[in-house]
Amino acid sequence: MILILFGPPGAGKGTQAKLLSDYLKIPHISTGDILRQHVKDGSLLGKKAKAYMDKGELVPDALVTDMIFERMQRPDANKGFILDGYPRNLSQAEALDKNIKDKNSRIDLALYFQTSKDIIVKRLSGRRVCRKCGRNYHLVNMPPKKDMICDDCGAELYQREDDKEETVINRLNVYLKQSTPVLDYYKKQNKLQTINSDFAAEVVFKVIEDILGARKSAGSKK
Ligand code: AMP
Repeated sequence: MILILFGPPGAGKGTQAKLLSDYLKIPHISTGDILRQHVKDGSLLGKKAKAYMDKGELVPDALVTDMIFERMQRPDANKGFILDGYPRNLSQAEALDKNIKDKNSRIDLALYFQTSKDIIVKRLSGRRVCRKCGRNYHLVNMPPKKDMICDDCGAELYQREDDKEETVINRLNVYLKQSTPVLDYYKKQNKLQTINSDFAAEVVFKVIEDILGARKSAGSKK
């Protein structure tokens, strides 16, 4: 199964991707996480990407596309994967389709996480991330058991540089500019499912579970 999670920053894609990855037993591939790892490691790609990421701009397609296609080829992804943060614009969506078709595979579903602006700003300003394993928390909605310490691995939590207010607004504007063509692209292919992600993570996950369950039973009746 190949799933795409699409939506504005703060829509809860990362949280749902982790839940779905456990549920479907396929890897969660996040371009943002991979890029942040490159920045942390000080790789050439990380050095090139950092300036764009800090401003909330998209990293150029040429840098992101090879990176994600290389990740999709690894053995753990041969039964499928969940893409979070890719594609982000029409040319990435077209490049992805071509890459997947060349491997005689296909995208099953694009889940569009629709969220209101107020909720996005609240979620991003309260988001804290584990420095080591990348797990997301929220100071109010999903706090760690111990203050600023990851429940899973005990490492320190931090606030992403691009979750600070000035950058959040730019990230949202970048998203709004690029999103419509991507949504239209998947709508035309009959692959788009819209989810209201203003609700709590457990509620949103249940909705996705139902969508996947309905698809499975429709498939088995064919
Ligand atoms: P995210 O964690 O998905 O919010 O991504 C953080 C940042 O990484 C974005 O603001 C972009 O600078 C960069 N990024 C992530 N995915 C992409 C992508 N598909 N294309 C270009 N830049 C990306």
